[in-house]
Amino acid sequence: MKKGKLHIAMFCIHSSPLGELGTKDTGGMSVYVRELSRQLGHQGHRVDIFTHLQADSDGPVVSLYENVRLIYLDIGCRKLSKVALHGYLSHFQRELEAFRERENVHYDLIHSHYWLSGCLADRCQQQWGIPHIISFHTLGAVKNHVGTGPQEPDIRIAHEQQLVDNCQRILAPSEREKGYLIQHYGALAERIGVVPCGVDTDLFKPMDMATARENLGLSSGESIVLYVGRFEAMKGLDRLLRAMTLLRHHRGIRLVIVGGDGQQAPESKRLKRLIKKWDIEEVVTFAGRVEHALLPTYYSAADLLVVPSYYESFGMVGLEALACGTPVVSTPVGGMPSVLKDSPFGYVATGKIPEALAKGIESFALDPKDPAVDRIRDLTLNYSWSCVASAIVDQYETLVSG
Ligand code: UDP
Repeated sequence: MKKGKLHIAMFCIHSSPLGELGTKDTGGMSVYVRELSRQLGHQGHRVDIFTHLQADSDGPVVSLYENVRLIYLDIGCRKLSKVALHGYLSHFQRELEAFRERENVHYDLIHSHYWLSGCLADRCQQQWGIPHIISFHTLGAVKNHVGTGPQEPDIRIAHEQQLVDNCQRILAPSEREKGYLIQHYGALAERIGVVPCGVDTDLFKPMDMATARENLGLSSGESIVLYVGRFEAMKGLDRLLRAMTLLRHHRGIRLVIVGGDGQQAPESKRLKRLIKKWDIEEVVTFAGRVEHALLPTYYSAADLLVVPSYYESFGMVGLEALACGTPVVSTPVGGMPSVLKDSPFGYVATGKIPEALAKGIESFALDPKDPAVDRIRDLTLNYSWSCVASAIVDQYETLVSG
């Protein structure tokens, strides 16, 4: 039974949907919250997104899109690490409650993002008596199982377990992630809804490769392999660099790396050390963090995008590249295998990863993509944010009418 238009409280406390994409804690989740909320608002639902008031925030309330507001909660501290935020949940709750009373708002449900917001939602839903649906985005136990990068703290895993047990519904972006929820947390399959991530196909669309390269000052004579994303051990940039060493015999293949927190960040330094050690300095270019609006130019300039991650809950950059008509080589993570399926414009690298990535890179880097650009873009036809938002509203409705 359709309930009509919903009033949704969206919790995204550790990272603002307006944050700097590509930096350590701001990536796919921020894009997801922004785009999903925008579409929900466009479809007539009302959304209030709650986030932490940080040093550079506008606050206290920003009208983001039609029917969508962003509310900054001032907990008295503007710069805190992710885990430290957990100690301030009562502050968040107090601020939130004050806002709700001031505005006299009542929500139909809470959709929380990441375990920290999940913990806040858990408290609020008990007080407000409304359902709670959670998107974890990544799972601590899976990160620890994969075992690259620092171990995720026990407090995270314990709270994720509690949330899996307590919340009314879990949204997973891929069947693989649903499997992880069942395997690592004993989640009940019937409580998990699978809805993929989306892509803004108005923003991400193909442009002429030569023009794109000229705009970016990239050579027209080289094959360009692109990486886009945060710099985090889990992202597997080390494996991509290793693959580049295996392609040394091909002259004119360049790796362009987009994202990161600047040259002094520890992960940047680690990657630079590897590049030096493996003697591939001449074929790797760091472009730094790039605004979302300029990314279509990078995707269009590239012969292919590589997603070398050890773990990914979905991997939105893959969809963005395809929407720009650029082939994707990916490890078997997140939603990529199901998006690429058996398409000739994608390659899922399995087995010995650096070798398999090198094989995939070789096959696309040496072939011009131009004749196939529209067919590559067609792979994203079912992934518009409006389709995604409608599927998520179906999930919401099972809760509010249930
Ligand atoms: N991104 C960006 N600029 C950058 C690097 C990344 O706008 O310099 C965006 C990218 O376009 C994508 C998001 O950050 O929308 C990364 O999402 P993804 O799901 O690939 O990875 P996550 O950050 O969730 O691990």
